[in-house]
Amino acid sequence: KVLPMKDLRGIGFLLTSNTQGKLRDFLDQLAAIPKDIVIFGGAADTYANEASYVDTEQARVFDRKTASDKGILAILFRGEELNLFVSSHLGWKALSSEAVITEMKSHTDICTLNQEPTVETYKKYLGISSGKDFFSYAIPFLLMLHRDGRDIARVPTRCFPDGSMRFGADFDVGEKVRLGYGDPNAMFRAAKKSQGEMREFSPEGILLFSCIVRRMYLRDDVNQELSLCDALAPTAGFYTYGELERFSGHERVNSMNGASVAIGFREGKSYLRSIPLEDYEKARLEEPFDERISMVKVLANFISVMAEELEDANRKLAYLADIDRLTELLNRGAGEQILKRELKYLQATNGKFSAIMGDIDFFKKINDTYGHEKGDDVLRQVAKLLKSQVRVNDYVSRWGGEEFIILLPNCPIEKALELAERIRAKIESTIVLPNGQHVTMSFGVANAKQGDDMDRFYESLDRVLYESKANGRNRVTVTEHR
Ligand code: GH3
Ligand code: MG
Ligand code: MG
Repeated sequence: KVLPMKDLRGIGFLLTSNTQGKLRDFLDQLAAIPKDIVIFGGAADTYANEASYVDTEQARVFDRKTASDKGILAILFRGEELNLFVSSHLGWKALSSEAVITEMKSHTDICTLNQEPTVETYKKYLGISSGKDFFSYAIPFLLMLHRDGRDIARVPTRCFPDGSMRFGADFDVGEKVRLGYGDPNAMFRAAKKSQGEMREFSPEGILLFSCIVRRMYLRDDVNQELSLCDALAPTAGFYTYGELERFSGHERVNSMNGASVAIGFREGKSYLRSIPLEDYEKARLEEPFDERISMVKVLANFISVMAEELEDANRKLAYLADIDRLTELLNRGAGEQILKRELKYLQATNGKFSAIMGDIDFFKKINDTYGHEKGDDVLRQVAKLLKSQVRVNDYVSRWGGEEFIILLPNCPIEKALELAERIRAKIESTIVLPNGQHVTMSFGVANAKQGDDMDRFYESLDRVLYESKANGRNRVTVTEHR
């Protein structure tokens, strides 16, 4: 309703936590507001019963005329010289493996993750069942997801008898989530980074929304993080029950949990008023002094290192699973995956895609004459030569015993033909057997056309390779241009 409005720089929302159920629809509408208008907000609650999140009293938002226990207040920030800057951080780190949201009752209620009741995920990783202590254990373990290039989190707020769970902000079916834990190291690092960004902006005042979960989790150590803003400019704000932010450059306004959102305000250019470094340096982060958090800090570090080591090992395994051990080329499985992917991409983009299939001539005879070892050696030499002739984005795969396929994305068939001919000549001239005989190879070249699936494309490649063999070997045959 307010747009367009002259010199509108930002809109801040103050809301009561019980608007949550309708919030998603509201936020979806805000996406239409031009991207250069900063949008942020925070929800208030009485936090009457922290552990169970049961609202026993109502928080209210009010202006001069009305007070509402179920409302959203919009504050427009206008001014020709006004600048707003938002910097937020989280410090929760994803830990479990990814799960897909498979069924929801509403935007905040997840029935199943990977087809399993949602509480099962908490049970599995944390060993806690829905009972009266559930939330006191579950609080540090928020559900994490990735949106608009950022990690965001959701607090579990309720368990239902059917195994579904309610969270403090919205999801969509199909989104991928992971259980995350509050890592005090990451939190303090992120807070420091936010402070650095805010200092660059040189605010004259700061509004700060810090999720109540940070307070509940960090206890007195939360003051360290809050004081970082104080060192930059006069700061006011409150502990929130949900934070709103539109990440810079994006349309969507995200509802978040567990975050700390700082909004800096300044009139005029930033060099007019920059914060003395000494003031800024005064606010230093000390080691957390809460004993419990010190312990978590050590364990969090342990978990991070373990997770990194595991991911590293998994990456190596995944890599090895794709590689042919003899030639170190992609194996057939990996080659097929890539071929399928490229053909699919082709359908979507109307691009060009060609491939070369090669088979060593009379290879059986090489084995029979010089032994299997020498045969292996020839395979390695051929593999190395193939690899050396292609572009970095091409793929060379060992398709079978002495059969290879080269996948050439973005390559017209004329170029593929040239390349095949060059490779054929190079093999013939450089790979020589002990008796002076030259190793040769036959090739087929084909391009994919719209609608080709892997089987059809492979068939056309195989047919032209067979033609090369039938017509005397050591030659290249290309499919009719199509
Ligand atoms: P053509 O010109 O018709 O392709 O004849 P060819 O002898 O090359 O073809 P054929 O399919 O009859 O023989 C392929 C041989 O490749 C048979 C198999 O023992 C050998 N081979 C398959 N894998 C390996 C391997 O890993 N190492 C070695 N040394 N030989 C292999
Ligand atoms: Mg052969
Ligand atoms: Mg063969």
